[in-house]
Amino acid sequence: MKVREVGLKASGRYNHAMPLTIFTSPRFADHLTPPGHPERVERFEVMQVVASEFRRRGGTVVEPRRVTDEEITRVHVPEHLSLIRETAGRATMLDPDTFTSPDTYDVACIAAGAAVTAVDHVLEGTGKRGLAMVRPPGHHAERNRAMGFCFFNNIAIAAAHARARGLGRVAIVDYDVHHGNGTQWTFYEDPSVLFISSHQFPYYPGTGAADEIGKAAGSGFTVNLPLAAGATDADFEAAYSRIAFPILQQFRPELILISAGFDAYMDDPLGGMRLTASYFGRLTAGIAAIADDCCSGRVVAVTEGGYDLKGLADSLREVTRALNGDASRDEFAAPTGATPRADATLQAVTPQIAKYWKL
Ligand SMILES: [Zn+2]
Repeated sequence: MKVREVGLKASGRYNHAMPLTIFTSPRFADHLTPPGHPERVERFEVMQVVASEFRRRGGTVVEPRRVTDEEITRVHVPEHLSLIRETAGRATMLDPDTFTSPDTYDVACIAAGAAVTAVDHVLEGTGKRGLAMVRPPGHHAERNRAMGFCFFNNIAIAAAHARARGLGRVAIVDYDVHHGNGTQWTFYEDPSVLFISSHQFPYYPGTGAADEIGKAAGSGFTVNLPLAAGATDADFEAAYSRIAFPILQQFRPELILISAGFDAYMDDPLGGMRLTASYFGRLTAGIAAIADDCCSGRVVAVTEGGYDLKGLADSLREVTRALNGDASRDEFAAPTGATPRADATLQAVTPQIAKYWKL
């Protein structure tokens, strides 16, 4: 793997005592959005702070390579790549939420590149955990359409890359507060990619109902966990431990990817959920423990949303601790309390997927 390493000690080596490597680039500050837009440059400044803290603790932070056209067109139609490329040098509006600035095309190529570089890192055994801290996000981008702040679908491109490298089973867990529509449709008929999404519902982008379970050979390999607004740590804990985790264990992925959005955080200006930063650590540690069991611990997390800057910083710190193995799932506080929203979700989802998975 040919990568430029950023800010390494003079030895220039990976610190193998640290399972996690972070992939990020100063170029992520060069995608500009209009004043007042939530997906703003300050989000990258938060990522940079968390990466610097990790580096000071001895962690490795790597500048990723750019994605290739071939890697993009495993997921997107060539016309979509051309359309985004043609925005280079210009400020344009692609949908009411999604704006380019002159450097957006290049930055989006590096964001998708970070996801792919992190996959190469874990598949080549350089390390077992990767965290791509990127913007713009990706999970709303569809085969032929930019939407919801997203241009290229970073996580879908990462999954397709892992498949192209020979993996037979890849799981994607998406805990962003919004449904990952682009990722869902990319793999909707594909049994080799399990997609599990928890999200506020009904909510933007409108998809992600319990009965969207995949199609044809992919039936049962899309699992949606729609949750009513106001869901808490305890609701998420119930939904994950009773549905998502058992399915992940039965699927036995060879790699787990995480669409790590932090807009289900309690103070997020876009989301209506009530998660704590610590819970993002617990949830991620739970996913990582399944990876330890199924696939030599291989996990790649790629950032999506998260628009409260303090929530983004604290959640990223907790996820960094979880992926680096600094704390196991049980060392993060276990949520307590009633779970009325998760109970409703379980009732809606279980009959849809009962014939595919043992719950
Ligand atoms: Zn989101």
